[in-house]
Order: sequence, then structure tokens, then C-alpha cells
Amino acid sequence: MTVRVRFAPSPTGYLHVGAARTALYNYLFARHNSGTFILRSDDTDAERSSEEFQEDILEHLRWLGITWDEGFAADGPHGSYRQSERYDRYSEVAHDLVRNGHAYYSFATPEQLEGFKKAAREAGTSPAYDGSLEPDYSDVSRRIADGESAVVRFKVPRPGETTFTDIVRGDMRFDHAQVDDFVILRSNGTPTYHLASTVDDVDYEITNVIRGEDLLSSTPKHILLTEAMGGEQATYAHLSLLFGPDGKKLSKRHGDTALASYREAGYLPEAMNNYLALLGWNVGDDETVVALDEMVKRFDLSTVSKNPAVFDHKKLEWMNGVYIRNMDDRAFAELTLPLLEAALGRPLSSDERDRFARLIPLVKERTKLLPEVVDQASFLFRNIDTYDEKSWDKVMAVDEGPIALDGAIAALTDLDPWTTESIDAALRTMLETTGLSARKGFQPVRVAISGSTVSPPLFESLDILGKPTTLTRLNTARALL
Ligand code: GLU
Repeated sequence: MTVRVRFAPSPTGYLHVGAARTALYNYLFARHNSGTFILRSDDTDAERSSEEFQEDILEHLRWLGITWDEGFAADGPHGSYRQSERYDRYSEVAHDLVRNGHAYYSFATPEQLEGFKKAAREAGTSPAYDGSLEPDYSDVSRRIADGESAVVRFKVPRPGETTFTDIVRGDMRFDHAQVDDFVILRSNGTPTYHLASTVDDVDYEITNVIRGEDLLSSTPKHILLTEAMGGEQATYAHLSLLFGPDGKKLSKRHGDTALASYREAGYLPEAMNNYLALLGWNVGDDETVVALDEMVKRFDLSTVSKNPAVFDHKKLEWMNGVYIRNMDDRAFAELTLPLLEAALGRPLSSDERDRFARLIPLVKERTKLLPEVVDQASFLFRNIDTYDEKSWDKVMAVDEGPIALDGAIAALTDLDPWTTESIDAALRTMLETTGLSARKGFQPVRVAISGSTVSPPLFESLDILGKPTTLTRLNTARALL
């Protein structure tokens, strides 16, 4: 049997890191088993769904390199993979279920249902709605024809229970005394999540449902519906939800949760995938660096932990730094050049691009997030006419400031050739002649050429900046003292 899995996001929000992990696990499972990965759009909530969210989901799955074989925004043999385009199919199934006794029209009002639950709680019996409020109606067709409002409910067999083995969570058992006769079709004829999702899973011949733990309690309903439809049962795997380092469910309080913000902040998709994969999957510890194709080879759903997975920004950032350091210099330059040009508000000349390329190995080592490159490299390409105030006060506006700058100007003015090594030697000699420590002697030079005490390694920076610009900047700063 070929494995067929699906990722079924509702386009009611931007792609969330937790959803991205669910997509990734489905993808890894499909690829590992040479199966088919299907994308479905669960857009039944017309009010909250939007094209913007739908686009965001597609865009960020593609960004992560999570490709799907069939489904929404791809071809497939099942027609539409968008639930809003399949209402006829859902209603057909609902009516079949009514016809063969698995479902019924329910006229109970919310007030009546509330009364039922309250009475059950008081009597110490199960508050799950069992259809007992429905009149013995032989006149259903007439009442509906008269325009009376009715939903369609699934008739949960009572007494009874549904059991299944969850690949992640083990043996599950749900007593039907706790399961409502749930609504499958609303009074306006639209399907509920339970109906739409199950009909799709059956129609698309899904073999393995891998989704978040928040949907665990829906599963007995889906199993009952599948049985009533005469469909093939899938196996289920419910992934733990993501938590913040404080043990609370991951939310905006812990920082951004949308993939888009991570992309914008300068995370690499490869690092993101790696980190997401480790959230629950025991491929090693949470510092294991493993590429996507290797993950595909090793993926094993049965080793995924049912413990809550902690999403830790610090770990993710560290992981991103690892991926950046391992990146090819040229690829890294190509990725960061647009950020630099955007910050400068102009394109670099070809000479400037060469200088940027020379700086890359130095900044790559020190970068955890892509935009940090801009802070480290822009001193090469902009005029230094303002200085970071703190840096200035600390290293320039002190006795050693002018001594260091005078010493550096004297040491570098006639320096030839201009290389990292010769600059290194000349400035070290300057320390000896002035009697300054490396910190007191070099920091003013750094502030003069870059505007602050933070810049890539000093001698290389001066080398790449070039002699004329270096001397101009040293003299400009000196004149201000
Ligand atoms: N559309 C559901 C959601 O976004 C997932 C449905 C499913 O996986 O069964 O949470």
C-alpha cells in the first residue's frame, strides 16, 4: 500500500511554526516511505479564511523546501483540494448517512441542549448529547420544507467505545459516553470540520493522519465517520504541541510564531527545518545538525516523543549560526548583498562588491542572523560622519583618544604595501611607541573608521577599506577631538 499523507492547514492565519513542523513531519514521512504528500486547504471558515493567509502558507512551505506532490496549488486526480469547493460532496455524504441511519436531523435548540447538559451533570450521568431531545418525528421532511432550522448530527453508537493505536501516543480509548452526537452539517448546509476532514481523508485515500495533539479528541469522531462511510481507516499520529521555555503553550508572548517573521529576521530555511525537525523527533539531541535529505533517510515517526516540545529561540538562533558558518562564502554573499543594498539605499559598484566579498569570511563567522551582516559591513560603503555616542565617549573623548589617532596616522601614512600583515605590524609598533594597551590604542582607530566599537577584525577591516579612506577617516575623527 502506498503511503498517502496530507497537510491540511486552515488559511485563517499565517503559517505558524507549529504547523510548519506538522507539515515537515508529514513531508519526511511521505518521502521516507516513497509515498505521496498532499496539500489540502481547510477553508470552510469563510469568515476567517483569506487569500492572503493561503498565499502565506504556500509561500513559506516553498521557502522551507517542503514540496507536495498532489493537492492544492498542484495537480491531482481528486478534483479540488479546497474544501470550500467541495460542499456538494460533503452534503451528499451527510445525506447518505441520514438515509442509512448513521445520522439524523436534529431540531434541538442551543437552550434545550444546555438544559440537557445541566440535568445530566446534576444527575451524575454523561453530559454527552445522545439525541434524546429529538422528538419521534415522522414529519422531518415537512418541518424542513417549512423552513425549520435543523442540523445533521452523527449518531454515536451507545454504549460503545472507540480504540486506536496512535503512532506517537500509544493505545487510545474513548468511551462514547463522553462523545456527543456531533454536528456534521450546519443548519445553513455547510459542513463542520469533522465531516469535511473525514470525507476528504477517505476520498483522497489518506493512509496516515499526522497532525497536532489539539485534534486528538476529534479522532474517535473521524474513525466513527469513516466506518459509517465504509471508508478505509487511516492510522493516526498526534504530535505534541509546542511550548515556550517557561512551560506554557507557545504563543505570541514568547515572540513571533509566524514563519514569515523568522524569514524576515534572517533565519535560513535549512536551519529552520533542522530545528523544527528536532522538536519531538529523537534523531539526536537538540543540537544535532542534519540536512533535509538525511532527515528523509532517517525519519521514524514511532520514535517521535509524546512529551511537550520546547521551542527555544536561543537554540534556533544558535542553529542558524551553525548553518551560516557552514555556508559557502559566495552563496552567503549573494544572500546578504540585497540586504546591504537595501539598507544603503543604492546598489554596490563592482569594486564595492569585491570588497564586500573579501569581508564575507570575516563577518560570516560572527553572524547568527542575516541582517547582522549589514551592521558589520556597511562601514565600508557609507560615509562615517556620525559616531555611536557611547563608543565616542568611552574611547575617543578620553586622554588616550588623540594619542592613539595621532600614533595611527603617523604609523599608516607612509605604509607600503598596504596589507593586513603590514597594518598589523605598523599598529603594533604604534602601541610600543605610545605605550598604549591594545584596547586603548586600537579602539579609537576602530571608532574612527567604523563609527562604533563594533566592527569586524581591525587589521583586515583597514586593509579592505583601503589606505586613502582609512587615513581620511582617522584625520576626520582626530579633527573633532
Ligand atoms: N485544518 C486543521 C487545522 O488547521 C487541521 C486538520 C487536520 O489535520 O485534520 O488545524
